Amino acid sequence: MKLIFLGPPGAGKGTLAVKAVEILKIQQISTGSIFRAAVAAESTLGLKVKAIMDAGQLVDDETTIALVRERLAMNDVQNGFILDGFPRTIPQAQALSEFSAIDKVVNFDIPDSGVLERLGGRRVCRKCGFNFHAVFNKPKQEGICDHCGGEVYIRDDDKPEAIQKRLEVYREQTAPLIDFYRQKGLLVDIDARPMVDEIVENFKKAMGL
Ligand code: ADP
Ligand code: ZN
Repeated sequence: MKLIFLGPPGAGKGTLAVKAVEILKIQQISTGSIFRAAVAAESTLGLKVKAIMDAGQLVDDETTIALVRERLAMNDVQNGFILDGFPRTIPQAQALSEFSAIDKVVNFDIPDSGVLERLGGRRVCRKCGFNFHAVFNKPKQEGICDHCGGEVYIRDDDKPEAIQKRLEVYREQTAPLIDFYRQKGLLVDIDARPMVDEIVENFKKAMGL
């Protein structure tokens, strides 16, 4: 199964992806996580993208497309994958169609109010990337990841100014992908407002599982 998870920042794509990869036994490919790892490692890529990410803007298409093209050429994803956070622009979607088939595009439907509530409270494990929430899904021990013991922190791009910018970027550059994929008959909408377990059930239904 080759899937794209599409939706605004904070819609819960990454959270559902962690569950969905277990259910479907496929790999999650999160461009955001790859970029964050590059920033943490202070690699050439990381140094290039840090300021862009912190400001809530998109990394350029050329860099992002090359990264995903290389990742999708690897052996472990030949049976399937979830693209979480890619494509985010029409040129990215067009490029993708030249190097990979896609079975379905899962569109996370959520109003801006839901996005603001989630991103404002989002806490992330520095080590394994697991998403917590300051109110709805706290780690058992404050500041420490339940899964790997890593440090739980607030992402630099989850600060209020960057959140506004990311929503604006989403509306202008990413939302047009909804129609792009609907026209191709690939879009599946899921209601992203409920709590995680319910979204997992909605996802299974939408996938016919
Ligand atoms: P979100 O929680 O906003 O969905 P992600 O973790 O997917 O965030 O991405 C974080 C940041 O990484 C984005 O704001 C952007 O700067 C960069 N990024 C991730 N994916 C892409 C992409 N497909 N194209 C351009 N930039 C990207
Ligand atoms: Zn962790």
